[in-house]
Amino acid sequence: MIDEDLPAFDIRVWGARGTLPGCGNGQVAYGTETCCVEMRAGGRRLIFDAGTGIVPLGRSMATLGELDADLFFSHVHYDHIMGLPFFKPLYLPNASISISAGHMLDGRSCKETVEDFMRAPFLPITPKIFSADLDYRSFSPGDVLAPSPDITVRTARLDHPNGAVGYRVEHAGRAVAYVTDTEHVPGQTDEAVLDLIRGADIVFYDTTYAEAEMERFRGYGHSSWEEGVRLCRLAEAQRLVLFHHAHMRYDAEIARFEAQARLVFPGTLAGRTGMSLTLSARPVEA
Ligand SMILES: [Zn+2]
Ligand SMILES: [Zn+2]
Repeated sequence: MIDEDLPAFDIRVWGARGTLPGCGNGQVAYGTETCCVEMRAGGRRLIFDAGTGIVPLGRSMATLGELDADLFFSHVHYDHIMGLPFFKPLYLPNASISISAGHMLDGRSCKETVEDFMRAPFLPITPKIFSADLDYRSFSPGDVLAPSPDITVRTARLDHPNGAVGYRVEHAGRAVAYVTDTEHVPGQTDEAVLDLIRGADIVFYDTTYAEAEMERFRGYGHSSWEEGVRLCRLAEAQRLVLFHHAHMRYDAEIARFEAQARLVFPGTLAGRTGMSLTLSARPVEA
């Protein structure tokens, strides 16, 4: 039974930058923190990626005394995992955290990958220091996950060096897609991405580049705002959130991408630290 007055999704962007944190100068409007998106749905807190944005999120959770979360990695390139050792709830014994990964892990599990990331000489601590109740989960791209009975998380493989996974979260008749880092082939539609974003209410998409820059960065594993617009129109999605802004990109350039995208897809927003989006439950059709 879904209460239509309660929000189906409360979404907050804690980091929208890609590859490296921004430097701050001329990058204030969209933030300097790397990838981290929080989705609260059905009484649960789902977190996508542990870039530097997860650090202030963790502090906020500790202050609120809300310590449980399901964390999903798109993949574990540094910009998506570097905040993990500094995520405060991991150090709190009352916290309960699941960590899921499903990209190409070279045969290693999610747990082994995190242990490999957090070790000497790169860090003075290992995951053994965590006090939270931790549950590592490994899955394969394409698997359908169910963090709770009324939340469905669909997954698909993305085109990215070392692999990456895109997500589609469904709850209360709404769908939110998180699709970063992925590269498109010009003139071809990535059917896996299209399936993830079909009819979605909100689509976070890797818009590291403009199409005019793509040739120079072919093979880097990223996409363009033009491709995001094209896919969202094709998929009849409602809203596109430009995401994974290049670390050297200034506010004015991101604002220009947003304005240009809106001319062809009015539902476009440029992702920024602190952005909140809410979706109400969709009434069940009689
Ligand atoms: Zn990235
Ligand atoms: Zn990456």
